Amino acid sequence: MIIKKRSKPLTLRVLESLNYRTDLKVLEKKEYSNHTKGFEGETDFDIYPEILPADNLVINDLLLKENGQMFQIDCLILKENTIFLYEIKNYSGSYDYKNGALHGQSDFIISDPLTQVHRSQPLLHNLVRKLGFQMEIKSKVVFINPDFYLYELPRDKPFIFANQLPRHFEQMAKITSVTNVAQSQLANQLCALHIDNYRPLDLPQYDFSVLKKGIICPRCFSFDHINTRQNRICSACGYKETASDAIIRSADECHLLYPGLNVTKRLITLWCGEEYDEQRVQRVLARHSHTHGHYKSTFYELHSPLFIK
Ligand SMILES: [Zn+2]
Repeated sequence: MIIKKRSKPLTLRVLESLNYRTDLKVLEKKEYSNHTKGFEGETDFDIYPEILPADNLVINDLLLKENGQMFQIDCLILKENTIFLYEIKNYSGSYDYKNGALHGQSDFIISDPLTQVHRSQPLLHNLVRKLGFQMEIKSKVVFINPDFYLYELPRDKPFIFANQLPRHFEQMAKITSVTNVAQSQLANQLCALHIDNYRPLDLPQYDFSVLKKGIICPRCFSFDHINTRQNRICSACGYKETASDAIIRSADECHLLYPGLNVTKRLITLWCGEEYDEQRVQRVLARHSHTHGHYKSTFYELHSPLFIK
């Protein structure tokens, strides 16, 4: 049973938006590519836990804090008295496992993926104990990309390669168990502790004036479109949405990039490339958000964000 679904990370959403609205610097482009690849790997992994029987409680994408230290977990599966912790890596290419690191053929070195697990597992263990539960934690590093090869690998490493995933989850599914109250309580408490408003301090910053304005297609990121009376249809991929959805989605994207700016009808009208007039933008914002202030100082607090998928 999926207790918590995966959503696109904030950093990726910011970089994605910036990528289509400006020219990212070389290192930012690389970072965008890495985040995209990482997220694609995680969503490729998700098809396996999704088909597990209901006694497997699946929690995706957790950011937790224990003893002042933040740690991120790609996927947890709670099954009876065991927690399976999965760290997902979407590496591709051939590597040698030497001296606790992955050595690529082009002299490129990736630090041991077990380091992250060795940090998060004890933090999770202590957090679970503090919450009053005693569970065994089994950690796995998943190499999700079928085009990844690791040579000179010691046998005792808790690694799962792409071609081993079907068998791993088939075996998980075969072990039947009964979801007990403690297991459900722990799953809910961990989800409640998830930090969902974390904003990394090192996000790229671009002045509002330099970004390309207009509404981006949420499916293919094109600005090209045609309008009907009520709808907006992407000319590149055919994605169709109501003008209201397009406006509120763009307002949310603007707020994601500029959380310090008040969401006003003027700001969102500009952000949407002045495609819709201020009155229409105002009506949409008023319908989908809490209104603060009066007259010219009115601003809106979005409450039903439609993030770019
Ligand atoms: Zn499109």
